[in-house]
Amino acid sequence: MRIAVIGAGPAGLLLATLVARDLPSASVDLFERNGADEAFGFGVVFSDATQRGVDAADSALRTTLDAHGVRWDAIEVRLKDEIHSFAGNGMGAVLRKDLLAQLQQAAADAGVNLHFRHPAALADLRGYDIVAAADGANSRTRQAIGEDVLGTSFDYATAKFIWFATDHSFDGLTFLHQHVEGLGDVPGVFAAHAYPIGKGLSTFIVETDEATWRAAGLDDFDLTTPPGPSDEHSRRRLEEIFAPLIDGAQLIGNNSRWGNFRTIRSERWHAGNVVFLGDAVHTAHFSVGSGTKMAIEDAIALAEAIVAHPDDAEAAFAAYESVRQPAVARIQNAARPSLSWWENFGAYYHAFEPWQFAFHFFSRSLPTAKIARRDPAAAEEPQQEWVRRHGAPALASPLVLESGTGDRLELAARLIPRADLADVAVLEAPLDEEDLDAAIRSVFDSPDAPRAALVTGGTPLTRQLASEAIRLRHGASAVIHEPDCDDDRALTLVLSGRADAVAR
Ligand SMILES: Cc1cc2nc3c(=O)[nH]c(=O)nc-3n(C[C@H](O)[C@H](O)[C@H](O)COP(=O)(O)OP(=O)(O)OC[C@H]3O[C@@H](n4cnc5c(N)ncnc54)[C@H](O)[C@@H]3O)c2cc1C
Repeated sequence: MRIAVIGAGPAGLLLATLVARDLPSASVDLFERNGADEAFGFGVVFSDATQRGVDAADSALRTTLDAHGVRWDAIEVRLKDEIHSFAGNGMGAVLRKDLLAQLQQAAADAGVNLHFRHPAALADLRGYDIVAAADGANSRTRQAIGEDVLGTSFDYATAKFIWFATDHSFDGLTFLHQHVEGLGDVPGVFAAHAYPIGKGLSTFIVETDEATWRAAGLDDFDLTTPPGPSDEHSRRRLEEIFAPLIDGAQLIGNNSRWGNFRTIRSERWHAGNVVFLGDAVHTAHFSVGSGTKMAIEDAIALAEAIVAHPDDAEAAFAAYESVRQPAVARIQNAARPSLSWWENFGAYYHAFEPWQFAFHFFSRSLPTAKIARRDPAAAEEPQQEWVRRHGAPALASPLVLESGTGDRLELAARLIPRADLADVAVLEAPLDEEDLDAAIRSVFDSPDAPRAALVTGGTPLTRQLASEAIRLRHGASAVIHEPDCDDDRALTLVLSGRADAVAR
């Protein structure tokens, strides 16, 4: 059997290695357009659970992490001179270059024929039984097959991000937030996702909303220039902005340019004898740190399927898709609330005190009880802060709402029966995030807009986002209606500032 693999990123290298090692009758050619030692980007991060899963199939990740990586347990959120921490999140990171070097060595040892500086196109690979396309998010192979054939869709985030490294040293995954004065009527907040990757370097990804990005004059880089040069103007400006938080350390570019994160989804991952893996068919927002994890797990599953069905590519591809498509969909769904957090963090920065901002972040996909299991203090601290301000625990705190008829509605607690809110205005949340603004405007864009609303319908995420918009943008009260809401979820929604109360 002859197999061609396009792309020597983590997905292509591991697939080629595993097939060559576990199917000795196969001849595997791997084509990479770049040289062996050229790698864009800096570090990649893996949870302990991912490392254990990958270990069972191949030792390259473990070997690299043991030799060159950095491990940590706590996530930190820093803003307004405060640090809030959430432990129990075991993770490790390594330079992408080190991981690729280890994977290249493993591929060579397994007998893969490695062809660097050799761009490959489908039309040149006719003699192969299987062509595996691991050619990344801008996959030419996907375009050659036809994105309509594969059912590929693209969603663009509105936030702007740019990827650097820094020589400032961080202990673990750290989220820094810095407000810039004097930018006019925009949030003016910049966030950095930073984590150590070894050799004295840390990854430093900066994110901000588009209005802030323009107001800060960061939009003057010519994006039509070919890959290679970094956006030097932005690098220097961001060094200044973050200087107080990183002791004036330098930011280091590597083809670093602003972009909008693109979530790629594909209904089908194969067509004929061509099969796709990694970023070529799916991406998930980098804040969930899962791109390389998904690429590696795809490679393991695809190699197992090819080895199990050496004479039947169609059966192998079907087996591969049945294992990986649901797993990837779960990660992409989990990434949604995280991505949406990064679309709105400027508003949260201004609206919330640091303890609540940090808890809002930690709870974007975990309820309070799960946070408490990993780190009791991370769940306890916001509850104590709440009691200090309100004199009672979050769900036992009274609340006064104004009903649609202008009457005062005095509630004794924050988890209440729906029937108690019969006179409160109702906002029907949409199923899609893109319809949120219109739904909110339909209720709140009028001089006699209600002072409180019950948010119902939609999805858990659109209900939360609608509720936040009512609270933060319109200064009104919002109660989320969830018939099946348990105490833990209600506590999370109220304590994090996503809702004033919950009705069921
Ligand atoms: C800002 C940012 C931060 C990230 N942080 C993390 C993180 O912390 N953790 C994590 O797990 N993931 C992270 N990722 C995602 C990660 O970089 C990718 O998901 C991962 O590299 C995907 O692996 P891949 O093998 O599918 O594709 P890639 O790594 O993109 O590899 C594709 C390869 O194909 C080659 N190629 C393309 N076309 C051709 C051709 N025609 N012929 C030959 N070769 C070709 C390319 O040169 C490249 O080497 C991040 C991504 C971004 C944008």
